[in-house]
Amino acid sequence: MHIVHIAVEMAPIAKIGGLGDVVTSLSRAVQDMNHNVDIILPKYDCLNFDHVKDLKFHKSYFWGGTEIKVWSGKVEGLSVYFLEPQNGLFWVGCVYGRNNDGERFGFFCHAALEFLLQGGFHPDIIHCHDWSSAPVAWLFKDHYRHYGLSKARVVFTIHNLEYGAPLIAKAMEFSDKATTVSPTYAREISGNPSIAPNIFKFHGILNGIDPDIWDPYNDKFIPVSYTSENVVEGKNAAKGALQQRLGLRRDDLPLIGIISRLTHQKGIHLIKHAIWRTLERGGQVILLGSAPDHRIQNDFINLANQLHSSYNDRARLCLSYDEPLSHLIYAGADFVLIPSIFEPCGLTQLTAMRYGSIPIARKTGGLYDTVFDVDHDKERAQGHGLEPNGFNFDGADAAGVDYALNRAISAWYDGREWLNSLCKRVMEQDWSWNRPALSYLELYHAARK
Ligand code: ADP
Repeated sequence: MHIVHIAVEMAPIAKIGGLGDVVTSLSRAVQDMNHNVDIILPKYDCLNFDHVKDLKFHKSYFWGGTEIKVWSGKVEGLSVYFLEPQNGLFWVGCVYGRNNDGERFGFFCHAALEFLLQGGFHPDIIHCHDWSSAPVAWLFKDHYRHYGLSKARVVFTIHNLEYGAPLIAKAMEFSDKATTVSPTYAREISGNPSIAPNIFKFHGILNGIDPDIWDPYNDKFIPVSYTSENVVEGKNAAKGALQQRLGLRRDDLPLIGIISRLTHQKGIHLIKHAIWRTLERGGQVILLGSAPDHRIQNDFINLANQLHSSYNDRARLCLSYDEPLSHLIYAGADFVLIPSIFEPCGLTQLTAMRYGSIPIARKTGGLYDTVFDVDHDKERAQGHGLEPNGFNFDGADAAGVDYALNRAISAWYDGREWLNSLCKRVMEQDWSWNRPALSYLELYHAARK
């Protein structure tokens, strides 16, 4: 099968959130199963070109009153076409954040379909993502399917329903199949007016992580390579390196890591509460977070100042986007906290487990589908062929997060042997794309029937 993704994010060259990870790692998994995958992406001036191999000029064509230069290259072994309209729509130093984002990405979607048509491509599946490439679905149905792309079927994936609901509703209507990124999130949003009329073609397929990109045995950002066999040694070394790098006290203390966009979705009030509670209980806490909203950013700067006076050796708030540091936190933390108010899938908990860190998560969306509480979810885990792997909680208040956090920290103080065996167990669970990619292939086949 030939699958073309039309997307505005792609890890690691233009990644803002999970969407970028999914485009790359789903494509790699499908390609590894001997299918042909191409990705079409805007050629942002802010692309991380270090990760693009064999970048070369491919062709140029005219569309929408401007010349569009097309470049080809390889990213993580995937073939990518970069569209560079000469009207400068993508020369603005960022992926999102301009007040004409709708117009920029609408133009890109149209230009991408035009590129496929003019280039004589005959894909079986065109896969588009979220509001930003939603227009592909109706542009295709209104126009392009009547021309050279008639063989193609459109699959649309919702990574987050929060943004661009009207565009999402329209893409739901015009796509052949639609998905979202976990079964529980699919259920949670099934009654939403954007989804409900087209629920019959809507499926929840859990995301995976790319085990080559996230691999503690082969990770240049951590000091000692490890597998589940030497997880204790590997994680101790990473903890020491992390403490040293951030100027924290180099002691063996329970260390909670938080790696998150800082938006209300991610449970900001719960994050703040958990920071104070962890410190009260003698632990260390490291937050790596980027806040798109200046008010939230300032709020965390204030919190960092407050923490500085009393807890400078036990708390560090890193308010930036820092991929290398994220690897060291995944490896060095004992626990990774994800208290999201809603979470379509969440990759953080899966990555944490790959590095032997125990997730502490709120029971919502994909977190509910992947984190099984050691005290409460044995049966539910076994229903998925798994053993329990973390701590979870229900409420969206301090008592909720305390319930899970206190049990985790107590386990660290009172049950190190048990916790070490839990680390080993979570590392051995398979959260790769192997299974989800098969579900996507089934769906692609079903779309073509
Ligand atoms: P979302 O897409 O809603 O942000 P996900 O959990 O699906 O949430 O994906 C988040 C991804 O972004 C994870 O790979 C996580 O490690 C990464 N990430 C989030 N914030 C940062 C940051 N400040 N620095 C580095 N990586 C980050």
